[in-house]
Amino acid sequence: MPDSLIYSLAQVLGRENILTDPYDLDRYSGDALSPSRAFGAEDSFKRLADVVARPGSTEDVRAVLMLANESGTPVIPFGAGTGVMGATVPARGGITLDLQRMNKILTINPTDMTAEVEAGVVLEDLENALFDLGLMPGHDPYSVPIATVGGTISTNGVGYRAGAYGPMGDQVVALEAVLADGRIMGTRAVPNQSSGPSLKHLFIGSEGVFGVITKATIRVFRLPEAQVFSALAFDTFDQGFNAAAEMFALGIRPTLVDLTEEGEGITFHLLFEGFREGVQATGKRAVAVCAEFGGRMLGPEPTEAYWADRRQSAENYKVSALGKPRSVRWSRWRGRRGFDYLHLGLPISKVLEYRKRSDEIMSRSGVRVVEYAIWSRPELFSMLIIPDSAAAVSNESLGETVEQVLTLAQDMGGIMEYCHGVGVKLNHLLAREMGVGQDMVQAIKQALDPNNIMNPGKLGL
Ligand SMILES: Cc1cc2nc3c(=O)[nH]c(=O)nc-3n(C[C@H](O)[C@H](O)[C@H](O)COP(=O)(O)OP(=O)(O)OC[C@H]3O[C@@H](n4cnc5c(N)ncnc54)[C@H](O)[C@@H]3O)c2cc1C
Repeated sequence: MPDSLIYSLAQVLGRENILTDPYDLDRYSGDALSPSRAFGAEDSFKRLADVVARPGSTEDVRAVLMLANESGTPVIPFGAGTGVMGATVPARGGITLDLQRMNKILTINPTDMTAEVEAGVVLEDLENALFDLGLMPGHDPYSVPIATVGGTISTNGVGYRAGAYGPMGDQVVALEAVLADGRIMGTRAVPNQSSGPSLKHLFIGSEGVFGVITKATIRVFRLPEAQVFSALAFDTFDQGFNAAAEMFALGIRPTLVDLTEEGEGITFHLLFEGFREGVQATGKRAVAVCAEFGGRMLGPEPTEAYWADRRQSAENYKVSALGKPRSVRWSRWRGRRGFDYLHLGLPISKVLEYRKRSDEIMSRSGVRVVEYAIWSRPELFSMLIIPDSAAAVSNESLGETVEQVLTLAQDMGGIMEYCHGVGVKLNHLLAREMGVGQDMVQAIKQALDPNNIMNPGKLGL
């Protein structure tokens, strides 16, 4: 990168908001994905960012993008770098655009039930500000203490409350984004529209390839009047799954839906929240549905304990890895024999068949599933996989097995990932899933960002 560009960036943002020290370039290059889990995308990690720019306003973002566009320099939007797919890896070098100075909560409107925030606001800070007014956000991932609003919109994350409130994309009422040429686009803060296509959706789950989100208006909810926690045990995963599907067919939408099979145990964690009478009625009916499918009440305690602990992994990440150099982040996986955590989406009617077929693939390859789960809705199915201790499974062969299992989901009418995005890890499989849709994405990209400066190399672009 020419010194003149770094000089111009410093003129716009101030020298203190430009980082060029190798230590900083290293820690801003990438996210929570390590090369050992990237299965075939290891080459993407060879480059570091050339410079880190820290804008403080939409106008700053606009100025940086105009400079980058003139010189054809890549720009990688960076929320907090907590993604797990490598979407912030600067695969072609360039400017990593750290949005964390843009952390203002602009307005909270309890009548409109919305909050307008800058993109770099950390979810926990929004949650705390809302709590003081008797409100809460609808998106509640493990990563509340560390992830930003802009990053969670750009990956369309899923959290513990998604059963009732949906993924992060559903929380977005409106947003403001700066396009590659510096134009600033905004959508109106009304939940639905019939006046033309909904352009906010272009940015939801798009990993920064169409522009930089600078502000978002997010739905907020009243703190619940009542909460009912229920844990149930099932003899088989299929019974628990069928109970969940029946619940959804009836129109019951628990806040938390987590059916987990770990070892011998199968536990269904449910949480009902909202106004008192509604919570009591839906909680009672949901437990009756579970009983029809063989569910046995374990009482509230297991789910209360699970709920209290739900952010622990992110608290640990905050201390041990957040903002640290890559060698420190990557060392978290050293000593493990390899694992992967897959989050697939399938039509309800296909999930159990998919489980059988993917089990067959994995057992042939010496790979074992240590946890199966559905999270938030019956369509969203996850598996934590490790090499079987008795089998000699190389990392390469684990990667091949993962690929077979992901493409099986696609071939059965599903998707390969429901909450973490594509990044560098799943890039090569996206066109296969999108079909002609990928040509449309290419055409939109060409129209909005002809110099391909926005997070190049991601989403297959
Ligand atoms: C311990 C831990 C637990 C996790 N738990 C969950 C979970 O429960 N559910 C879940 O869904 N995910 C979870 N994640 C993953 C992670 O928190 C999410 O992917 C998160 O949504 C990304 O937020 P971020 O602010 O760190 O974004 P980053 O990782 O910095 O960026 C993610 C993507 O968004 C783009 N981007 C960031 N900001 C902007 C912007 N303002 N405009 C345009 N593009 C932008 C980046 O370029 C990149 O492509 C977890 C991660 C960790 C480490």
